[in-house]
Amino acid sequence: MSLLSLNNVTIRFGGLTAVDTVNLEVKQGEILALIGPNGAGKSTVFNLITGIYKPTEGEITLAGKSLAGVPTHKVAEMGITRTFQTIRLFTELSVLDNVKIGAHCSGKAGLFHALTRVPGMKREEAEITEKSLEALQFLDLVGKREELAKNLSYGEQRRLEIARALVSKPKILLLDEPAAGMNPQEKVVLMDMIRKIRDTGITIFLVEHDMKLVMGISERIAVLDYGKLIAEGLPQEVRSNKAVIEAYLGS
Ligand code: ADP
Ligand code: MG
Repeated sequence: MSLLSLNNVTIRFGGLTAVDTVNLEVKQGEILALIGPNGAGKSTVFNLITGIYKPTEGEITLAGKSLAGVPTHKVAEMGITRTFQTIRLFTELSVLDNVKIGAHCSGKAGLFHALTRVPGMKREEAEITEKSLEALQFLDLVGKREELAKNLSYGEQRRLEIARALVSKPKILLLDEPAAGMNPQEKVVLMDMIRKIRDTGITIFLVEHDMKLVMGISERIAVLDYGKLIAEGLPQEVRSNKAVIEAYLGS
């Protein structure tokens, strides 16, 4: 069953067509990777899905519901959360507070309550702390909950971002180059965690450059080149696809 659909999605920035008539289905429960050379339009696809950009043409639907005109925070509430290609953490806050902000931003209470302590909000606060600790447990960071985010290793900071995106229990998690800058050991740990997250029923849609990771973890792979989807299929199919090989050799 398709959870997220892109139907003829196009976005133009001036003369540049960054995403060009893309049709793509993300199936419930799968791990799907989107790959392609630098500048192919991968991050733009995530920005379109999360409502940061509006498609020039076409439509995106989540479980059949159109996301047209839905603001970013509502997209998160509807069950789509993400991480960014470059780390975005509150470096001077604790690991736990970084995750709690994720819970507040996608919850009903909003960021205001994350920053003020209103009596009567105590129960909700406790629930959010509990959910945040659970997310940290999942990413093997619960022991570091009181550390400032800036004191974590690079791999841990990347995992903290995932914990923050996970805390609201999304239907689908978008990961933009989660392994970027990680050492081989950190990548192995990350792959394991992504699989574990999927096994809880969360669909994974990731953009990634590391081919070993992509081939090792994805059930399906879609390939973008100059904004166009040039291939889609099982890892072994995509790996031997002539257009894909050319796109990579040409870059
Ligand atoms: P990828 O993530 O595949 O490396 P991006 O999606 O970041 O590529 O970018 C695709 C193309 O769209 C690039 O040429 C980039 O410069 C352009 N682009 C992305 N966002 C904008 C924007 N807000 N304004 C103008 N051009 C943009
Ligand atoms: Mg990108």
